[in-house]
Amino acid sequence: MAKSLSPVCKLCRREGEKLYLKGERCFTPKCAFDRRSFAPGQHGKTSGRGGNPGSTGRASDFARQLRAKQKARRVYGVLERQFRRYYDTAITRRGLTGLNLLQILESRLDNVVFRLGFASSRAQARMLVTHGHFTVNGRRTDVPSMLLSDGDVIEVREGSGKLPYFKDLNAYAEKRNAPAWLSRDLKAMSGSVARMPERAEIDGSLDEQLIVEYYSRR
Ligand code: SF4
Repeated sequence: MAKSLSPVCKLCRREGEKLYLKGERCFTPKCAFDRRSFAPGQHGKTSGRGGNPGSTGRASDFARQLRAKQKARRVYGVLERQFRRYYDTAITRRGLTGLNLLQILESRLDNVVFRLGFASSRAQARMLVTHGHFTVNGRRTDVPSMLLSDGDVIEVREGSGKLPYFKDLNAYAEKRNAPAWLSRDLKAMSGSVARMPERAEIDGSLDEQLIVEYYSRR
């Protein structure tokens, strides 16, 4: 279960926009992007970086495709090899490859835990899953990349429900709406996948067409 070890806020600065990778902190004045909205590094303020702030000139098609792919990878916290595998799976499914790819990313267990409001960021959801605090269809799992399907049920493990984090969770989760493709029972600290998300229910700033173009040319 490899994960990126890059400083998280640098990823936002590299992409030239807030990716909201740190949960609550992203909405406070401590947000690094709000304080330094230029690319990291010695030449960050002046170097071109494909259409991002500080860029000099128009980004090439390849640069835009690369940035779209990198952004999606970073939003979901997926490494390159796994992302490529998701793309290969998306091609084999019926329908639009780009939408298939986004649905695969959304159906990851860590993303579903985040979407249900049980964690303030995908990174936190990933950690909670890795520590074995959730069950899927009654079975304990510690694999954040597990892909869920329609009807799968996610629950906070019985023993974990007594931990202070989960005791305080209801108050936090109530403030966040779960998307329509998931159903949630906060009292029981559980949720389930009603169906796969439609495009309108997924982050509109992600450009799946550019990602498909990126992999199509390789
Ligand atoms: Fe990005 Fe959040 Fe860090 Fe701000 S605090 S730079 S939005 S990860």
